[in-house]
Amino acid sequence: MKSVIYDVIVIGSGPAGLTAAVYSGRALLKTLVIAGAVPGGQLMLTTEVENFPGFEEPVLGPDLIQRMTKQAERFGAEFVQDDATSVDFKTRPLKVKTASETYESNAVIIATGASAKWLGLDSETRLRGKGVSSCATCDGFFFRGKDTVTIGGGDVAMEDTIFLTKFVNHATIVHRRKELRASKILQERAFKNPKISFVWDTIVEEVLGDRKVEGVRIRNVKTGKQDVLKCHGVFIAIGHQPNTAMFQGQIELDQKGYVVISQGTATSVEGVFAGGDVRDFHYRQAVTAAGDGCRAAMDAEYYLEEKGLRAH
Ligand code: NAP
Repeated sequence: MKSVIYDVIVIGSGPAGLTAAVYSGRALLKTLVIAGAVPGGQLMLTTEVENFPGFEEPVLGPDLIQRMTKQAERFGAEFVQDDATSVDFKTRPLKVKTASETYESNAVIIATGASAKWLGLDSETRLRGKGVSSCATCDGFFFRGKDTVTIGGGDVAMEDTIFLTKFVNHATIVHRRKELRASKILQERAFKNPKISFVWDTIVEEVLGDRKVEGVRIRNVKTGKQDVLKCHGVFIAIGHQPNTAMFQGQIELDQKGYVVISQGTATSVEGVFAGGDVRDFHYRQAVTAAGDGCRAAMDAEYYLEEKGLRAH
């Protein structure tokens, strides 16, 4: 156990966690960020971010994270590059554990974000990393001159597929309905792209291939007709789930596992606040996550002042 008791521990290092660290550090609170073994969150899997205010030209997701990290460090936030594995919010000070250490603080900000969902097919699991991926920006490069299938009809499915067309011969988007969920601007870009075609009202029932992806077996949900689409890569872009497994039994979560908050960013446990995708299934933007991180840090500061818990 570390002998120091922090004012604030931030769990997570995406835009919510890093903004919380900037505000908390700048409020002169002794702040520790448990950044994760792979820090930075979903922005690390993004290429160009075009809608983060203040950047007239697109900024790369990892660059934005690096800038936020440096900004938090400038205000004295400390960083641990390790995963938080469990928490104990039932005793005081609050405790956050990694595999090798236990950290204590009087306030905690949960900003652990969300992760990509999978279809749940055995064949998808078996061929993950062998042509099945949830990250076009990470893996698109491997599909130069090849054909790919993207599953999903949201912003991520459009963005990922548009990105893939830099490399691939052809990209097919398979969507379970006839209308896309994606924003109009991304829909238009995808419709206009000559390398992209759509298969509507259709689900993927199996990813085909032995040691690498060779295609997908699809079924039209309206007609029941089955077909095979040959491809070399399958990109799953069907949404996200919150990273809250370690908080089960410690704070209130909703049915889908998102952190329940009230009165600003307060969770069901006094002194524990939450912001970003871990509690927001609706907006899920870098800028809304950053705004949430700011609110959580301000709420934590008020709480520490009010309770006379501010140690530093
Ligand atoms: P999303 O908006 O929830 O879309 C998920 C898509 O996957 C939907 O089209 C959904 O179909 C489909 N889907 C879900 N489960 C499925 C299943 N089991 N089988 C087949 N299809 C399934 O998720 P997202 O695209 O990951 O986006 C997440 C959030 O980030 C959104 O709020 C989005 O606006 C935001 N985002 C914004 C930008 C941007 O503004 N530049 C970029 C990326 C992401 P249905 O439509 O039928 O439900």
